[in-house]
Amino acid sequence: MSVAREGGCACGAVRYRLTAEPLFTHCCHCLNCQRQTGSAFVINLLIETDRVELLADLPHPVDVPRDDGSTQRIFRCPTCQVAVFSQYGHPGVRFVRGGTLDDPAGVTPDVHIFTRSKLPWITLPESAPAVEVYYDSKALWPATSLERLGSDGTRTRGLPPESACATSCHGADTCLVGSRSLRA
Ligand SMILES: [Zn+2]
Ligand SMILES: [Zn+2]
Repeated sequence: MSVAREGGCACGAVRYRLTAEPLFTHCCHCLNCQRQTGSAFVINLLIETDRVELLADLPHPVDVPRDDGSTQRIFRCPTCQVAVFSQYGHPGVRFVRGGTLDDPAGVTPDVHIFTRSKLPWITLPESAPAVEVYYDSKALWPATSLERLGSDGTRTRGLPPESACATSCHGADTCLVGSRSLRA
């Protein structure tokens, strides 16, 4: 990547720069994402929290109820309230909303998830895997991304041991440890 990706909210008070390529990029068709965005799906760039450099105001966290009874923390611009990224249980990883990038066309989803609730008029591309619910990151992520999250001690602080995952992520649909703790 020659130029770091940048993005921000609508009013410009919140600006961010991604100092690395995303670990993986999701296109999520779940009903939570549809409701939160008022749209058909969300594009989430998964990236380490410390690789999201904040250039202006700090977005503020809002805990939003999900339909499984858990909450999801969404970070919004304090002024215009546009959501720029989310956190699902794992404090070390941000889910940056692709539509807030200055160049949203610069990313293509690596996987389509929760296609069980995909709107029927959307045709998925052949070029990316699509799963009914979620997937095992060990099977789909590039080795470099697994390494970034798994073996670098500075980036795994706060990462729960696998056995604790179901507790810490509340069985969220974006559990980063794997799909075994998911509620089907
Ligand atoms: Zn704003
Ligand atoms: Zn979703």
